Amino acid sequence: MKALGPFRLSLRNNGFLHLDGGAMFGTVPKVMWEKWMAPDGENRIPLATWSLLVDAGERRFMVDVGTGAHWPEKLRRIYAVESRPDAEDGFDPGSVTDVVISHLHFDHAGGLFARKPGTEGDIELRFPKAKIYVQAAHLENARHPNPHERMSFLRKTLTALDRSNLVLTEGSEEIFPGIRVHRSDGHTRGLQWVEVRGGGTAVAFPSDMIPFSHHVALPYTMGYDINVEKLLAEKEDFLNRALAGDWTVVFEHDPDVAAARLKRDDKGRIAVSSFVNL
Ligand SMILES: [Zn+2]
Repeated sequence: MKALGPFRLSLRNNGFLHLDGGAMFGTVPKVMWEKWMAPDGENRIPLATWSLLVDAGERRFMVDVGTGAHWPEKLRRIYAVESRPDAEDGFDPGSVTDVVISHLHFDHAGGLFARKPGTEGDIELRFPKAKIYVQAAHLENARHPNPHERMSFLRKTLTALDRSNLVLTEGSEEIFPGIRVHRSDGHTRGLQWVEVRGGGTAVAFPSDMIPFSHHVALPYTMGYDINVEKLLAEKEDFLNRALAGDWTVVFEHDPDVAAARLKRDDKGRIAVSSFVNL
C-alpha cells in the first residue's frame, strides 16, 4: 500500500497465464529473452495479471481484472491459465466502485465475469454494481475484431459489458480528479493507459504498451501488436513523460518486477532504475 496525494494504491495479482515467449518478445531473439525468462517445454513464459487498486475515499478504482475463472478446459490448457480465487487473499470485488479496462483482450477483461454455478455456460458479473470504463473506439474494435486480434477477445466479455454499468471514454479524459485515461492505438485500437496523479508525481499503468519491465527498451515490442510503428511513437512519448515526472510505472504482466521508476542509462537509453513496492 502506497500513499499518493489523496489516494492509497496497491497491486493485486489476479493469477497467471502462459504465452509463447517468442510472441511476447517480438523480434528479440530467444537466445536473449530466455536468459530473462525461462520458457517451459512448450516455449511458454509466465505472465502475471496485476491490477492497480486506487482507494479514493468513498470510491475504489481497479485497473484491469485478469483472466477470470471461466475457462473451458481446452483454452485453459493452451494458455495454462491459473486464475487466483478472490477468496484466496480475501479480495472483495464488491468493494470496487469503478473498473477501468485498458482493453478487452481476455487477459485484461476476462475477469469481468465468472461462470454461473450449475449452468452450462451462463455468466455472472464479478462487479455487478461498478462502473466499467472502456474507450468507445476499442469497444467498436472488439465488436468487429480484425483477424490478427480475433483470438484475443472472448464473446462473453461483450455479454458481460451489455449487462454492466458501462461508461465509454474518448481519448484523454479525467474520469475522477487525479485519475486520467489516455488513448493509444499501437497494441490494439483504443487501448487506454491510466495515470494517477498525486503528491507532485504519478503512478502510471501502461498495460500492454509495456507488458514486462524488459519492454522498457524502446525497440522491444510484442508479436501481438497491431501497429508497431505507432506503438513505438506512443511508447517513446510515454517513457519520456514517465522519466521527466519521476513516475512509478506498473508492468501488468511482469511476474518479477511489478512496478519501477525509470532512469537514463550510460548509453542514454531509458531503463528501469529502482523497483517500487505498491
Ligand atoms: Zn495482455
